[in-house]
Amino acid sequence: MALFLAGKSNCAICGKPVAASEERVLFPPFVANKRDPLFHLSDGVVHRACLDRDPLGAEALSRREEALAQSVPSARVCVMCSTVVTDPDDYFGTGFLGATASALGRFNYLHLHRSHFSGWSLASEFRGAVAAHLSLPGWEGPTVVFDPLPRWARSAPR
Ligand SMILES: [Zn+2]
Ligand SMILES: [Zn+2]
Repeated sequence: MALFLAGKSNCAICGKPVAASEERVLFPPFVANKRDPLFHLSDGVVHRACLDRDPLGAEALSRREEALAQSVPSARVCVMCSTVVTDPDDYFGTGFLGATASALGRFNYLHLHRSHFSGWSLASEFRGAVAAHLSLPGWEGPTVVFDPLPRWARSAPR
C-alpha cells in the first residue's frame, strides 16, 4: 500500500498535498501497465473527494478492492491443483492485466504453482496472449517471460 505522509504526499488526481484531516484513499500497486488509464493511481494516495469526482473513481475503487482481496496469501489458489501456493519461488500470479472482455483479461488474477504451469490446459493460450499483447503499444511495463516457467521480468528480453 502507498505510504502516506500527512501534508507531504500529493494527491494523484489534483496534485495537492493531502492533509491529515482530509479523507483519503490509499492504493496498493494494482496496475502493472503504464498505459492503463488507472496507472497514475497505482501505489498512490488521493483525496476521497477527488476520487468521488473522477469519472474513473468507481472503477478505481472496485479494482482496488479486487487487488486487495487477491493479494492475501489465502487467495493464492493454484488454478491447476486448487491448493494454496505457499512457496514464493514456486508462485506465479498475474494481477490485473486488462479489461475483463479482452484477450488478456481472461487471465486476470491468475495464481499458480510455476511447477504446474506446463500441465495447465490454458498454458499455451496464456503464452500466446502474453506474446501477442504485452509487446503491443498499449502495454508498457513489466512483462512475463517463460524460461520455460513463467515469471515477471522488468522488461522484455532483447
Ligand atoms: Zn486531490
Ligand atoms: Zn498447483
